[in-house]
Order: sequence, then structure tokens, then C-alpha cells
Amino acid sequence: MTYKTIIIGTGPAGLTAAIYLARANMEPLVIEGWQPGGQLTTTTEVENFPGFPDGILGSELMSNMRKQAQRFGAKFKTGSVKSVDFSKRPYTLDVEGIGELQADSIIISTGASAKYLGIPGEQENIGRGVSTCATCDGFFFRGKKIIVVGGGDSAMEEAVFLTRFASEVRLVHRRDELRASKIMQDRARANDKIVWSLNRTPLEVAATGMGLQGLKVRNNETGEEELLESDGLFVTIGHTPNTGFLGGQIDTDEQGYIIVKPGTSETNIPGVYACGDVQDRNYRQAITAAGSGCMAALDCERFLESQAHEAVHA
Ligand code: NAP
Repeated sequence: MTYKTIIIGTGPAGLTAAIYLARANMEPLVIEGWQPGGQLTTTTEVENFPGFPDGILGSELMSNMRKQAQRFGAKFKTGSVKSVDFSKRPYTLDVEGIGELQADSIIISTGASAKYLGIPGEQENIGRGVSTCATCDGFFFRGKKIIVVGGGDSAMEEAVFLTRFASEVRLVHRRDELRASKIMQDRARANDKIVWSLNRTPLEVAATGMGLQGLKVRNNETGEEELLESDGLFVTIGHTPNTGFLGGQIDTDEQGYIIVKPGTSETNIPGVYACGDVQDRNYRQAITAAGSGCMAALDCERFLESQAHEAVHA
């Protein structure tokens, strides 16, 4: 069978697209990967998604969006898309665990994955002091000491943002020189709540059952190891958009983010749309992802209607 539309990914972008398309009787099929719900399921409480004055757990928010999409008839299948063929319509997806699927239109909402340091103690303390999202989790560190790892614009931005809550933000970077733009560096350097530990390589996240102790680092000048004490650790060393499976068939920028036509969700292939973090290197918020998912659904719906109209008048 050929689906009208297949949505790849079940973060807030994909699920919002599913709600809109299902409600418009477009019977979308949603491909759910091995981390259903996306990045929000790795955070604890979401306090900045409008409509939840008391906050909501990330996992609950995603589960609610999924139920809402199902209520209008969206179907879900679990699998990981290995490759795509966008050379002719209907478009074909090769999905691990399912096989080949075909659809007249595709919405790509596979998100981006925050990069981690890959050091001992890091993974087991995600949500227990280790985070990759200052906007999501900064609030929990009011009056506490925080370490931010990274030397790029994101690290500067997150460090400055976190000074709103923390008593001290320590910026740890593996080199002497920062990668960040001058303006972002200047902004961080002007903030007297930020202290600097440059030329330090992160070695291990130290924690007790009660919380973080800090970050063990090696001083690259002296070779000595030290424990930098902190209650929270924000890893801000970049994101990787999940676009590898597209095999270069969709235009991306040099970092792999899908390029959409300004003000739309259209990619370079007619009938293929992108929304959420896979096409957004700037905002990366649940609410902006959901908004772009709505745009993709409306763009897709118009495309399918125009195709149906053309078929009738052919
Ligand atoms: P980025 O520019 O790639 O910087 C990543 C930083 O993390 C680098 O300093 C890098 O160190 C460090 N790093 C990477 N892997 C590491 C590891 N395994 N261990 C320790 N450190 C590691 O990423 P980003 O800061 O997320 O920025 C991404 C893009 O978004 C950039 O183009 C940036 O300009 C843009 N952005 C702009 C703004 C803004 O203008 N408001 C805000 C945020 C992001 P090295 O320097 O040693 O490689």
C-alpha cells in the first residue's frame, strides 16, 4: 500500500504534524524510532511549554501528544529508517524492523542528538545533575554551582543564561582558545559570575547517590588531575542533526541540518518536508519544534490536495 504521508520521528515536531494531519483525515503513518518522544524524554520536568502552569514531565508531555495523534487516527510503527529513495514518487523508505514503505509525501522530524563527552559517570547521571539543555534544566540549580563544558557559541550562551540561577558558573574548555565568536566570548567574559577553567580535559563525572560532586579534569599544561566541584554539569559541545539516513538526497548545510525554504517546511524535494531540530540549529525548543511540525503538516496537506486536484483534472 502507498501511504498519503509518512512522518519520521516522534518528538514534538513529528507528533504535532501527526495530530494536524490525522485530524485532516490524511491518515499519517508515524515511524517511531528506538527513543520514542525524542530529546524531551531525557529531561525531567518541562516548565516552559505553554499550557502547563505547574510544569509537566517531558515523558508525559510526549505521551499526551502521542495519544492526541492516535485519537485522530494516526498509526504508529516502530523502526529505524535505514535509507530513503526520493528519486521518484511514491517515495520509498527502507525501515529496519519493518521493511520497505511507500508514501506520496514525507515529513522528516528526526531531531538532533546532543553530543556527550563519553566519559565515565556521564550517562548514568543524565537528569541527576548532568544535562545538555540549560533552558530546560537551569532553573533546578538556583543558588548552586554549575559547570558548563564547551568552547563554542552555545557554551557561552548557556553559561551566561545559567548565571541567572547559579551562584557560580565554571566554564571548562579543552583548549586555551575558545571557538566562540568574539561577541559571545566578550559577553561571557564580562559576566563576573563566570569563572574559567581553560585547557582542561574532562575525565570523569564524580557523583554520590545524593548528587554530583563535580567534574574530574586534567590540566593540559601541568598534566595534573583535579576535581572541579559543582552541583550541575551542562555538556554543551554541539549537536548532531539526525540526517545520515538521507544519503545526501536532501539539501543540508555543512553541519547536516536540513535546509528549508524560508518561512516554510519545504525541502529541495517536492512533497518532502522537514520540521523540528533536524532543520533548526538556533532555537531547539519543544514549542518551536511543535510550531514547525504544524507548518509541515499544513504544507504537506496543501501539497496532497494539489496533487489530488491535478489527478482529477489530468
Ligand atoms: P561548536 O561551535 O561546534 O562548538 C563545540 C565546542 O565543544 C568546541 O569548543 C569544541 O572544542 C568542544 N568540544 C567538542 N567535542 C568535545 C569533546 N569531546 N570534549 C570537550 N570539548 C569538546 O558547537 P556550538 O557551540 O553548539 O555551536 C554550533 C553552531 O551554532 C555554531 O555555528 C555556532 O556559531 C552556532 N550558535 C550560534 C549562537 C548565537 O550566535 N547566538 C548560539 C549558539 C550556537 P574545540 O573548540 O576544541 O573543537
